[in-house]
Amino acid sequence: MQQILAIDDSPDIHQLLSVRLGGLNVELRHALTGESGYEQACEEPPDLILLDVMMPDASGFEICRRLKARSKTASIPVIFLTGETDVEQKVLGFDVGAVDYIQKPFDTAELTARVRSALRTKRYFDMLAHRAMLDGLTGLWNRSQFDQRLYEEIASARRYDRPLSLVMMDIDRFKNLNDTYGHPFGDQVLQSVGELLQGWKRSTDLPCRYGGEEFGIILRETDLEGAERTAERIRGALEELEIRHRSNIVSVTASFGVSSMSLCRNPCELDHNWLIASADSALYRAKEAGRNCVSTGIVE
Ligand code: GH3
Ligand code: MG
Ligand code: MG
Repeated sequence: MQQILAIDDSPDIHQLLSVRLGGLNVELRHALTGESGYEQACEEPPDLILLDVMMPDASGFEICRRLKARSKTASIPVIFLTGETDVEQKVLGFDVGAVDYIQKPFDTAELTARVRSALRTKRYFDMLAHRAMLDGLTGLWNRSQFDQRLYEEIASARRYDRPLSLVMMDIDRFKNLNDTYGHPFGDQVLQSVGELLQGWKRSTDLPCRYGGEEFGIILRETDLEGAERTAERIRGALEELEIRHRSNIVSVTASFGVSSMSLCRNPCELDHNWLIASADSALYRAKEAGRNCVSTGIVE
């Protein structure tokens, strides 16, 4: 359910909004000061903010400016609730980032129409933002999301002193599959691998399509041994997977490189690039060792 945060110093306005917006399928949250509203929005971003312009503790324009300056809250649409009829004030509201304004006293039909319209736009925005994170073929997270999550997970693992591992996986002789059965079949194989990884994952695993026929699986709260076990299980499951091409069953295998933060001897070197490079070099060794196997290690 979409959430609306109303920020207004007047309890009467909150009461009125609860009644007038009661027919919409939304959750309405309330803040009676500019500052507490700002904090609520940062802690748990709503889908829409209805923001009073004149509040004793803060100006709505200033709160809106601050919300727009933070990446976490910048995309929340803001509608000003204003008693002001002065055009300059309304224009100022748009200039600080609002999508709309609603004149007090509210006309119920206009209020709900404007709120509905802002929520509809927000849903489209969220859908597009979500799609931009996904790989179109497999539905897994894409490379840019992989990079971002890996940065975040390394920072968080360091802060809380938790283990973090990375598995890089590359399908074996994939070019042969494309050449033998055609590119559409190659795509089907990539989708099947995507489904296998999606179905496999625990809530702490983040499988991504790294590029081409290569996948990266970020394993949160998982040490090296756990990551090796996971890679080995995925390897076995993929080997058993039956992918049909007409009347043939085609077998597909992959090679795996595993790395873990605990393998890094020099903590200064430990970053996103180190973890990827070490998993990649392990993957290279798995290919050298004959493919369809798991290798572990660091950059030599
Ligand atoms: P290796 O065992 O050493 O990994 O051999 P390989 O053939 O899997 O590796 P190589 O890097 O030589 O070939 C990868 C192939 O993957 C080449 C490329 O055309 C194909 N490929 C990359 N992306 C896609 C895709 O989205 N769909 C299909 N069908 N093929 C793709
Ligand atoms: Mg390959
Ligand atoms: Mg490859």
